[in-house]
Amino acid sequence: MSRDEPRADDATPRPAFVDVAVLAPLATPLTYSVPPRLADRVALGGRVLAPLGARKVGGVVTRLLSVDELRARRGPPRELAPLLEVVEDEPSLTPELVALALWIAEYYEAPPGEVLRAQLPAGSASQVRDVLTTTAAGAAALAGGALPRRQRDLLMALARRGAPLARLTPAQRRLAVELRAQGLVDAVELRTTPRATVREVSIARLAADLSDPAARDALLERHRRAPRRQQVLRALLEGPRPLDELVAAEPALRVAVRALVASGEIALDAVEDLGAVDAPDPALAGGGAGGDQLPELTAEQAVAVTEIGARLGAGFAPFLIHGVTGSGKTEVYLRVIAEVLARGQTALVLVPEISLTPQLAGRFRARFGDAVAILHSGLSERDRLVEWQRLRRGLATIAVGARSAVFAPLERLGILVIDEEHDGSFKQDDGVRYHARDVALVRAQRLGVPCILGSATPSLESYWHAQRGAYQLLTMTQRPTARPMPEVEVIDLRTYRPDPDDLLSAPLAAAIETALAASDQAILFLNRRGFATFVLCRACGHAFRCPHCAVSLTYHQSSDRLLCHYCGFAQRIPEVCPTCATRGAIDRRGLGTEKIAEAVARRFPSARVARLDRDVAAGAKAEAILARVARRQVDVLVGTQMVTKGHDFPGVTLVGVLCADTGLNLPDFRASERTFQLLSQVAGRAGRGERPGRVLIQTYRPTATAVLAAAHHDYPKFYAAESEARAELGYPPAGRLIAVRIDGADGQAVVTTAARLAQVAGGEAAAQGGVQVLGPVAAPLERLRGRTRWQIWLRGEQRLALRKVARALLTAEVEQGVRVGLDVDPVSAL
Ligand code: ADP
Ligand code: ZN
Repeated sequence: MSRDEPRADDATPRPAFVDVAVLAPLATPLTYSVPPRLADRVALGGRVLAPLGARKVGGVVTRLLSVDELRARRGPPRELAPLLEVVEDEPSLTPELVALALWIAEYYEAPPGEVLRAQLPAGSASQVRDVLTTTAAGAAALAGGALPRRQRDLLMALARRGAPLARLTPAQRRLAVELRAQGLVDAVELRTTPRATVREVSIARLAADLSDPAARDALLERHRRAPRRQQVLRALLEGPRPLDELVAAEPALRVAVRALVASGEIALDAVEDLGAVDAPDPALAGGGAGGDQLPELTAEQAVAVTEIGARLGAGFAPFLIHGVTGSGKTEVYLRVIAEVLARGQTALVLVPEISLTPQLAGRFRARFGDAVAILHSGLSERDRLVEWQRLRRGLATIAVGARSAVFAPLERLGILVIDEEHDGSFKQDDGVRYHARDVALVRAQRLGVPCILGSATPSLESYWHAQRGAYQLLTMTQRPTARPMPEVEVIDLRTYRPDPDDLLSAPLAAAIETALAASDQAILFLNRRGFATFVLCRACGHAFRCPHCAVSLTYHQSSDRLLCHYCGFAQRIPEVCPTCATRGAIDRRGLGTEKIAEAVARRFPSARVARLDRDVAAGAKAEAILARVARRQVDVLVGTQMVTKGHDFPGVTLVGVLCADTGLNLPDFRASERTFQLLSQVAGRAGRGERPGRVLIQTYRPTATAVLAAAHHDYPKFYAAESEARAELGYPPAGRLIAVRIDGADGQAVVTTAARLAQVAGGEAAAQGGVQVLGPVAAPLERLRGRTRWQIWLRGEQRLALRKVARALLTAEVEQGVRVGLDVDPVSAL
């Protein structure tokens, strides 16, 4: 443990002042004076308690300042409030993470305290409470012995350990108020109690050093008549042992241990239990992952490993691995990380949320064992804290986790890897709205180490950087085991009308029949992001788009209108389709995996059908369903986006996409990109085993670029068409966006605020130039969790100009109860 090492700040003079980012939504850290009693305990990155008005709040030290430094900053020092307490002697956060937090706060316009809170493991933040303690007068009254019994009991209890006010019974609280009025108790002491703590275990050891054989014999001889004590001593002569393990065989040994502790011959030490949390279900680790034999790299893999290896220890180097699904990107990460570890450095690997984490984490554990710490939301708070502490103390050297793992407290980081870098789950959509991929790149840049982005379907942004030479592009086009890419067929739903219950067309139903007959598995994918209802013409597939924004219109049931969520354009649903002139064919259709799974089960009664979506499965439950698929206990898996992620199931030979259009018709300028990604990813689930795969995409728009490019595995074609379309309208990657998100319980207050902010933004944009203000407009999901949501879009090419306009909004007047948040580089329009 680093407790014994000299502290980095030993050499520097004791700080007279500190900046503290309090864990509250304040725009900047606050400066406090450091009372002498705390001066040698405060440390950068450590948690402290500080006064904020009348409140006491937790915070993290973001800077240590001498008197001179403070003076340089703000003229003659004025009276500053003193820090109240240092909560931890080992700072939770490293100086590097503190600096990163301040960068994030600046870039994403977020309160630094909120960023630091996001960096700390959930549940570990200390809570501040008033604690009742006995005063000197109270102690004297106790000693005097003249108190009524109930008062005496309470005073005695408080004298022993103090109690948080909240934990007293109502009767005790009334009594405490009386005692306080008499000056016998006071609510002064601050006590912090984190929700999640690391468990402790007892380790038994011999009290004295017994390397001399004669001393050993003497010890055993003393307990000649007590075989159980002898047994305990013999075990401990071999070395210290956890108490539980020592007495596991025979509970009666506990008595012997107690006697030996009492006689001072053995000692028990309480030690934090930092064993690695259990590896995910081994069925999910997949084929070819374990074993001692490393696979021989393909030529493309070897090139990637060599190129990246050449840049280790040589400064910041961003790589984009564009490798088709199943091309063995993970193997490249594993090899490069092995090199990084060999250099005495550590590694950070980000993967999309829960559904994928277990599988990839399993492969890392299989290769690197307990050196891997796993951080994802499927773990309990305590387990996450254990993993976090293992990283913080250097017991684990590889962090594998979802979005917030980008803040893993690793020192000596040698590489960062972002797998499936295009994935939307890397964007945090409330609180601090950061993008973990972009933060990882910045972290790598600040540290001067390589960063690998990997994907079969890179985000437009990343490929754009690679095209410009900002990232080094590594392309992998082959699967290692000569398994060809699956054959993809596009099924035109205007010709093959789907069954209204299970949405299966005749060709897809026949393909399922064939797969089941061969005892193969099938995945059916329903893209159902954000919406239950979508509107299109049943006859021709016509969907409604905004004439100004090139995004789909969203159906609003309350007004029975179609609305553009960027500019506010609205229209009624016509009786006659504008494309094919069919009357009455325009459908407002509801969709759900549950209904579809039931209908599929009815049609194929002998098949075992399972369903996977956010409603049935979060965290561990998703893992269990996926493990059943891996064990071939499921024949047909019906699901939403969760089935498209990088699972590697050799038994799956058929993938059916029920309706590609639902994704294309989302009111989002990224709808086409996301559909392309989903189709390519889900197609990549087929044919990973010995047998070739087959993919059927059902759609009303068989000529859409996203569908055609996915069917032909042609990323460059998709990129060319899509980046051109985006550039025309000033969307990223060519342009930049900031979304202003306005929400509140009172709809009218939200609308009023949105209108006012749009006006302010308009004025500021006119002054700046080069910034377009779109909206205000209701969000596609206008009412969510009891709050009305509106938005304003700021679009432009220059980051600084955009930011000036955005900042002006943060100080604008808002109606009571309305929240205004900036979303820099927004990912979702919903
Ligand atoms: P990706 O991450 O690119 O989708 P994976 O890393 O999951 O691809 O690899 C797909 C499969 O190929 C996995 O089962 C993996 O174990 C196997 N594999 C990877 N590299 C090799 C190799 N060089 N030789 C044989 N099998 C490999
Ligand atoms: Zn529009």
